[in-house]
Amino acid sequence: MDRPALYDKDPMDELIQRGELFQEGTGIYTFGPLLTALIEFFERQFLKLAESCNAKSYRFPTLISAEYLQRIHYFNAFPHSLSFVTHLREDLDVIDDFASNARYEAGGLNTPPEAFSKIHSLLSPAVCNHLYFALADKPLPGGELAATAVGSCFRYEAINLDSLERLWDFSMREIIFVGPKDFVLKNRESARARMEGFFKEIGLVYMVESANDPFFIGEFRKQAAFQSAFQLKFEIRAALPFKDSTLAVGSYNYHQDFFGRNLNISLPDDSPAHTGCVAFGLERIAYAFLAQFGIEMDNWPAVVKDGLT
Ligand code: 5GP
Ligand code: ZN
Repeated sequence: MDRPALYDKDPMDELIQRGELFQEGTGIYTFGPLLTALIEFFERQFLKLAESCNAKSYRFPTLISAEYLQRIHYFNAFPHSLSFVTHLREDLDVIDDFASNARYEAGGLNTPPEAFSKIHSLLSPAVCNHLYFALADKPLPGGELAATAVGSCFRYEAINLDSLERLWDFSMREIIFVGPKDFVLKNRESARARMEGFFKEIGLVYMVESANDPFFIGEFRKQAAFQSAFQLKFEIRAALPFKDSTLAVGSYNYHQDFFGRNLNISLPDDSPAHTGCVAFGLERIAYAFLAQFGIEMDNWPAVVKDGLT
């Protein structure tokens, strides 16, 4: 945070004027070529990080199972931000009625709630959960695993969904570690050290701060101090000079054996696996970069300009 930033405006208006950003709905945005190229540049760095951790690439679904989310107590942790998925009930009358009468009005679709199925799936709120679900109820092959994936994540917030600072539908790149405690912590630390080098190289103004996240502390979630005390979560907070504040663009997480215990993922000695992840919000990192350097490419650091394809 010691370096001064070069730019001090909110890039949102200019991005919209230049056709680089289109708001489709609340918290839903389409990105143009410049933002896309910038996100792809950051993605390449994250992929290099993944490679240095020997992480194998995975592809995870956008939908997520309600049954598995229940097993990790997700409904208790973040009820307000969940996004539910339904479809019309498999009943010909319901489907015909919808086809003839469905209309979008200011308050939303006019379809009665009884026309919709019960909920078995949600929109995924994070990437790494899918890996833990795939590993559930069996021994972890080889006793340790490093994986990486990018995915769409959905977190609904009642307010502040009109900027790239907070999106309902955003993308996250994660590098995920499953194995013994030491394996997870060692990898989390080397990922942090490597990213520190990269952020310095591009001159990003940021800090890493210990943070609280009630999700994976489960039974300890009322004790806000727990997570800080055990250094379970660190956030990468980039400066937003135009509002003299910071924005979390990523996090370094250690979940202890929370997922290993609740999902029954076992190590060769029969103890539950520990897990951790390094997560980057792709839209946020691009937004924070533009908030610090502006949208004129001439003012960008050479390593970023040269790194765009
Ligand atoms: P975490 O799992 O630490 O809560 O989230 C990982 C990263 O995803 C955050 O550091 C942030 O960059 C990104 N992220 C989380 N919530 C949102 C959101 O509402 N909007 C956007 N654009 N990114 C988010
Ligand atoms: Zn994660």
